[in-house]
Order: sequence, then structure tokens, then C-alpha cells
Amino acid sequence: MNFELLKELSEATGVPGNEDNIRKIVARELKGIGELSVDLMGNVICRVKGKGKNPKKLMIAAHMDEIGFMVKYIDDKGFARVNPLGGWDPRMMAAQRVKVHTESGPVPGLLMPGTKPKHMLSPAEIGKAADVNDYFIDMGMDGETAKKKVQLGDSVTMDRDCQRMGNLITGKAMDDRACVFIMIEAMKAMKSNDVEVIGVATVQEEIGLRGATSFASGEAVDMVVALDVTLSNEIPGIPAEFQVTQMGKGAAIKIMDSSLICHPKMVDHFKKVAKKNKIAHQMEVLPAGGTDAGGVQKQHGGIPAFTLSTPCRYIHTVNETVHQDDVQACIDLLARYIEDAHKGDYTYSL
Ligand SMILES: [Zn+2]
Repeated sequence: MNFELLKELSEATGVPGNEDNIRKIVARELKGIGELSVDLMGNVICRVKGKGKNPKKLMIAAHMDEIGFMVKYIDDKGFARVNPLGGWDPRMMAAQRVKVHTESGPVPGLLMPGTKPKHMLSPAEIGKAADVNDYFIDMGMDGETAKKKVQLGDSVTMDRDCQRMGNLITGKAMDDRACVFIMIEAMKAMKSNDVEVIGVATVQEEIGLRGATSFASGEAVDMVVALDVTLSNEIPGIPAEFQVTQMGKGAAIKIMDSSLICHPKMVDHFKKVAKKNKIAHQMEVLPAGGTDAGGVQKQHGGIPAFTLSTPCRYIHTVNETVHQDDVQACIDLLARYIEDAHKGDYTYSL
């Protein structure tokens, strides 16, 4: 597996609406595969013409954006206040290093809750959860300097490198850069495509599936496969019924989440392709959370939609962690599905 590329994608920055940095890397990688374009939302689109007769259009969606923050206020002492972009759990935000992306480049900062140090807390205050709005960023600047350097609307991302840890790979933004990686690698690995493949590295997924939905409202595709991470909670303290998927047990074939009931015939098709090619896979029912497929499904009178998931521990924290075998299984399964996609009949009959 090309770990160096996955690491580069994970460490690149791009909050919803400000995906410039990650977009450059994705475009560089997709360039050699098909015809490349970027739309007015910022989605990067890579088209590979279908070799079959009257080729169907298969959209693949993996989102480039990561959860982060936007500067909304700078006080006279130079501390910045931020607005969250995407679903943060305030408990997971404490004491993190961040990058504040200013016009003149990124500056380092510390994301801290406005609370007394441990030594000074009363028994009643200990264990009280912080709210997103309790947080500020210390950039080591006085008020005047900070106000000159940092503008309202500047984006803020977590600062965390990507590393191997046993068979696992851990870093920030595996949601959804692991799947951007899977899309790139599968489009490189596919041996044939009778369908037209439209790989879309989407924007603004984390704030409501906006990039994928807008793209699909303009282009009538015949089916969509979204790629996203899913919960893998087999960790201490979580009962088995809440574990959703298991690390290292293969690509997760989604049946449903809160945005989507995957098209049953696409679910069957993916299962068949996985079995035929002996690719490790598991089934997934996710009670909460959504993917780009949920937005695309509702366009143009309804589009057969499916999500191929990668099991991930600690989602929406700086320690998003995937298993290398699951990533590889997703690459293999997506590549084999693309080769077989023209055989899919997702119509209903009466
Ligand atoms: Zn995601």
C-alpha cells in the first residue's frame, strides 16, 4: 500500500469551504487517470469514459473536507474564538495543537477550554463537561498582532501527523482522506470499465453533504457509490451491540445509516463481487451518521445509492485510526465492482 500518499492526504488541511490545499494533492493524483475538472463548488471531478455500449454513469464520491473550525472573534488579549465546522465532541477538543490558516500562511496555536487548572477546581467543578463555545485558541500573540495577522473567517485545523501503529494507521482526517485514498487507488487499479466512471472528490460533506448533492443535482448519474469511514467501536467500555464494525475484518458493506437505506440490489451486487473475488468484507448497520450517498440519492427522481465503508476507530477526534487490511480490501472491492458495474440491474419490476 502507498502509505506515503495516505499520510500526505491525512496531513493535508481543508475544512468545509476551504479545501484548496487538499484539492491540489487530489488533482495531482487523479490527473493521469481521466479527464480532470473542478466545478464551482470546488468538487474535483475525474471522468473515465465507458468502454461499453451506451455506458451507464457511475458516480464515486469521497469527501475531501475534514472537520475543523472558523475564527469568529479575536479579543484584545489576542485569543481567538472559533465556530465549529462539522460535528465536534467538546470532550475530544481539549489541549490540542492546531494550525490557524492566515493569509500569510499557517500559524501554530493551542486549542484550550476556558477553565481553571485542575489544581484550583472545586469538587463540584471537577468532571464538568466543556461546551464547544468554552474553547479559545492561544496563538502566543498580543491582541494587536493577532488582529493584524488573523482575519475573521480564517480556518483552523488540528495539527497531528499520520503514523503506522502495528497494523493500524492513525492520524487526523482519516474521515475521509482514507476514502479519498481508496478512490484514487481503486481508479488506478481498475482493469476495465464498461461504465463511465465519474470519481468526485467532494467538498463540504461534513456540514451537510453539500458538494456531492450539488454535483448530482446537475448531472444525472445512473448510480452512486459513496466512500466513507464508519464506526468501529470494539474498544473497552462499549457493549458488543454498539460496535457496528470490526477492525481488520474487511470492507464494510453498508445496509443503512441515518441518511440512507442503501439500494438492496447494490448491496447484493457488492456482496457478490466480494465473494467472487474472495475479498474480506462485513455487513454494516449504522444507527446514526450519513454519507454523500444520502444526498445524491434524492436527485433526479431518485438514484440507486450505496456506501462502501472503511471501519475507523475514534471518528471525529485527532486520532482517527484505520486498519491497513480494511483499506486494501476497500480498494480491491471498489476496483472489482467498477469492472462489474455494467452488469448491475437496479430496477424494480411490478
Ligand atoms: Zn466522512
